Amino acid sequence: DQSDSFMSDSTKGLIDQSSGCGSGPPTLIQRTIARNIHLVKSLGKGRFGEVWKGLWREEEVAVKIFFTTEESSWARETELYQSVLLRHDGILGYIASDIKGTGSWTQLFLITEYHENGSLYDFLQTNVLDVEDMLKMCHSAACGLGHLHSEIFGTKGKPAMAHRDIKSRNILVKADGSCCIADLGLAVRFVSESNEVDLPPTSRQGTKRYMAPELLDSSTRRDHFDAYKQADIYAFGLVLWEIARRCISNGIADDYQPPYFETIPANTDPSYEAMKKIVCVDKMRPGFPNRWSSNEYLKMMARLMRECWSHNPGARLTALRVKKTLGGIILQLNKSVKLDEAEKITEITNII
Ligand code: ADP
Ligand code: MG
Ligand code: MG
Repeated sequence: DQSDSFMSDSTKGLIDQSSGCGSGPPTLIQRTIARNIHLVKSLGKGRFGEVWKGLWREEEVAVKIFFTTEESSWARETELYQSVLLRHDGILGYIASDIKGTGSWTQLFLITEYHENGSLYDFLQTNVLDVEDMLKMCHSAACGLGHLHSEIFGTKGKPAMAHRDIKSRNILVKADGSCCIADLGLAVRFVSESNEVDLPPTSRQGTKRYMAPELLDSSTRRDHFDAYKQADIYAFGLVLWEIARRCISNGIADDYQPPYFETIPANTDPSYEAMKKIVCVDKMRPGFPNRWSSNEYLKMMARLMRECWSHNPGARLTALRVKKTLGGIILQLNKSVKLDEAEKITEITNII
């Protein structure tokens, strides 16, 4: 069971005995964990607070500390992480949440598994990939997104969710080179019993650079759940492009660039109007470097991206389709590696 891989045996024991709280341990245990964490170093500041590396007993953990003014963001992200059956290799592992103090001196913690490689964005700045690395990253992230998007039926089922802020900064890279989806702060849930979309209590929206055309020109309905999934896929297509640029072919890789860097330079925050002009009016999309056309895997990746960021939301692939396509490409890669090896063996035998 992956659910308690982060825990020492003593905690596992505690958690096995109790029913747990959705996808997390029981509340009291969460509180105990949170109060025994030693903060080690700051990993960075975000819109809602600061993320720290912490230690709980001997385990490294990540601690997201929300600003006092962001209690609703903390409560929302906690609630989503505690959704039943959310736990998955492709989704950041939730450990605990805690709130300490009252009034003007409240501390809001959200504790998750720690991933030393940090975000995909950080990782891609300094690492290049081979085809196998690239496919593993893309496939694992697609599996995570597919799980998030899926509804699992049953009395203890999982609601379908959409992320609403898919980008390379909200995807983490694990030690084995696979990825997981993080930062559920803006996610929405679909309540199938009432056919309603459960929106967070804020009107905040995702990152403009990654916003789908229909969000930029407000042509989408807020109560149409599929629309949120389709917007995630658009953004996921942009992430695939960021990853593929760093994949080596014929000894070269492209430098790291964020999507739309040709018009919106890295580290600048574009206006809605600027993004709308590029994405909706001019219908621009990230370009494919020339070298991609002479590599069969990068060519397949390019086709996949195009099918993710289509202007028409209904024409975009589903996360499960993206996952299957990537799975197919991985099989193809494994086959060709085996063929190469077989060929080499034949060559050697011929020489002998
Ligand atoms: P925010 O809601 O403020 O954007 P995130 O949850 O996206 O917060 O975290 C902000 C950044 O902190 C991430 O982009 C990543 O660099 C780092 N980070 C977050 N969680 C972890 C983790 N579990 N392990 C390692 N780094 C993390
Ligand atoms: Mg974030
Ligand atoms: Mg966030």
